[in-house]
Amino acid sequence: MNEVPDLIQENLKSVQEHMENACRRARREPREVTLIAVSKTKPIEMLKEAYETGCRDFGENKVQELVDKYEVMPKDIRWHMIGHLQRNKVKYLVGKVYLIHSVDSFRLAEEISREAVKKGVDVNVLVEVNVAGEESKFGTTCEETLDLVRKIAGLPRVFVKGLMTIAPYVENSEENRQYFVNLRKLSVDIKKQNIDNVSMEVLSMGMTGDYEVAVEEGATYIRVGTGIFGERTYL
Ligand SMILES: *Cc1c(COP(=O)(O)O)cnc(C)c1O
Repeated sequence: MNEVPDLIQENLKSVQEHMENACRRARREPREVTLIAVSKTKPIEMLKEAYETGCRDFGENKVQELVDKYEVMPKDIRWHMIGHLQRNKVKYLVGKVYLIHSVDSFRLAEEISREAVKKGVDVNVLVEVNVAGEESKFGTTCEETLDLVRKIAGLPRVFVKGLMTIAPYVENSEENRQYFVNLRKLSVDIKKQNIDNVSMEVLSMGMTGDYEVAVEEGATYIRVGTGIFGERTYL
């Protein structure tokens, strides 16, 4: 084994430990939280090392890259689409992806539904919420979310499992606690509406810089890239 893969194994262990400690502080069970290894821009050999260490959930933010990696990686992996999704790319994803975290419009959900019906499969999705109201980010506003969830719930073969947010980039992760609290509150409010085909069991929040705070506030998926695979270099 060379040095790089060993590092991934150590990083994974460290993230897992920090995650479990955060669970303990919040009196939660570690099995309530799933770590998604965000492998965007990273080569297959690094994904394989994470896989051998036990990772079965991988996150990608580009359709082409997800599909390419899907083709060569073992078939028991759950692939998570976490990046902005264009309607014309949906057809490549449906049937391969386990959960789409980034649904932020009815038109996108309609396209996913159309493709799911065509292929005869169900597709699980999260609605992406721009909780902090950042101009640069995709996602619905908190106010629009319930309405969007209701509309998506009426589409065939698409199931809303919960909410996702990308918190701002901050130096001090405590600054993001408010946004995680708000996403959780929003999810509880929507759950109370008892909408058919909507479960609200998933909260996808927390990245390398703030996943411990996110776990303390109820995250069920954390999406960690840099903390596992190291810094990304974009070409
Ligand atoms: C890249 C990315 C992550 C992982 O970010 P890190 O800071 O490297 O952990 C998580 N979520 C989304 C949506 C991303 O695009």
